[in-house]
Amino acid sequence: MSLYPLFADLRQRAVLVVGGGAVAARKIDGLLRAGAAVTVVAPALEPTLAALAAHARIRHVAARYADEWLDEVSPGGEKSNGGDEPSGYWLVIVATSDGALNRRIAAAAQRRRVFVNVVDDGTLSSFHVPAVVDRAPLQVAISSGGAAPMLARLLRERLETMLDDALGPLAALAARFRARIRARHPEPAARRRFYSSLFGGAVADLLRKHQPALAEAAFEAAVQAPAAPIAGSVALVGAGPGDPGLLTLKALRALNEADVILHDRLVGPGVLALARRDATMIEVGKTGGAHSTAQERIHALLLEHARAGRRVVRLKGGDPFVFGRGGEELEFLRAHGIGYEVVPGITAALACAAYAGVPLTHRAHAQSVRFVTAHCRDSLDMLDWRALAQERQTLAVYMGVAGLETLRERLLAHGRAAATPFALVENGSTETQRVIAGTLNQLPELANAHRVRTPALLILGEVAALARTLHWYGTPPLGGAPGPSLRHAA
Ligand code: SAH
Repeated sequence: MSLYPLFADLRQRAVLVVGGGAVAARKIDGLLRAGAAVTVVAPALEPTLAALAAHARIRHVAARYADEWLDEVSPGGEKSNGGDEPSGYWLVIVATSDGALNRRIAAAAQRRRVFVNVVDDGTLSSFHVPAVVDRAPLQVAISSGGAAPMLARLLRERLETMLDDALGPLAALAARFRARIRARHPEPAARRRFYSSLFGGAVADLLRKHQPALAEAAFEAAVQAPAAPIAGSVALVGAGPGDPGLLTLKALRALNEADVILHDRLVGPGVLALARRDATMIEVGKTGGAHSTAQERIHALLLEHARAGRRVVRLKGGDPFVFGRGGEELEFLRAHGIGYEVVPGITAALACAAYAGVPLTHRAHAQSVRFVTAHCRDSLDMLDWRALAQERQTLAVYMGVAGLETLRERLLAHGRAAATPFALVENGSTETQRVIAGTLNQLPELANAHRVRTPALLILGEVAALARTLHWYGTPPLGGAPGPSLRHAA
């Protein structure tokens, strides 16, 4: 036997809640959002409920529960329907921690034919409150029939990541245009096709970008001319540093909706495995020396696929706007009238620092942090070395493996102490992560000794010493001899 799912209209309907603690507060929040007239019976209220009572959003009966409260005919001023009903309440929610009391209230409610829910006790309840994914006016309610509430909650979390924020406003728009859509597509199959195109199309896209007026205009246009071809677009998406868990929910969604994915070599297989199965994957890795031709090819591919009406994801390692040429690609798209959006990612500096146990700033050691790139002699020459050599600041150096010797030489020449700690993080946040720790005077030698390869990120500054004590991911830092006070941790 299974439960019968139903969505109840509780507007202005009286609901009795017994208990005034945090659990009651959670239930009451949902009830108020549904417009219910809530009465709480409890000797005392926790602060948010007390505030609601003070503003007359709920009615508080400061007493222990007694059946007389259930027998109220017109609770909170609701008109009696003639006196036939044994109780003025439509629902009762019991949120006390007193098992005997819970049983008594449940029995009293059942006798009066009032639906009752005893929080976390399916057997005493005549209705269950489902786990909800809320994209109002759309809602997904999940129940395990009381068998495994935790599983229902887990499923809810999964659905949360799959269901777009734009669904709510999209459903609201659809409600407003409903009559016109019906008139335009009287045939159900055609109407279905129309709705289906909405969910994946420009209207949803505009809603996601918080452009409701444009979305409404696009909706209007779609209602007028349903056969219009879908415009292709490009999402510039940050894939993070490697660990798929560091992908954002938006990035995941974009990967699930993409027709074509153009990705860098730096983007790992774990992330690519999360993409839509039938998306076309194109690797556009750049190998040193051929940068400009590779970039032209990327531009050409973006244009080709977007013009063919496809949803293109341009997937980049880390964040697309941090040493990622994301700006150039957007300029190109803009110049060619292709719509785009940007989904930020966790950049290597943040991820490597986190996964190496190195706080980039620290009240005792560093008040600022700089993201620097130093991949060739030219870029090294353009840096302001005096500023970079300042104490109590952290440098996060991208693409530095080849230039470590020059880096050391210039920093020392501009006054950075030879004993300044560094942590060199190779393949940060992945299973093969290694951290080499030492001091500035040993930097290139240690990197060579451990054969550090790209991708690696250098964190240089007082904070880097903390890698020895705060590391938590993978193997402990390798490298130079730890100071005496730190030896136990290495
Ligand atoms: N847009 C990227 C950076 C691209 S430049 C971002 O925001 O992270 C490429 C450089 O990033 C590499 O040479 C390396 O220095 C650094 N990098 C990227 N991923 C890395 C990782 N998993 N571990 C260490 N360094 C990484």
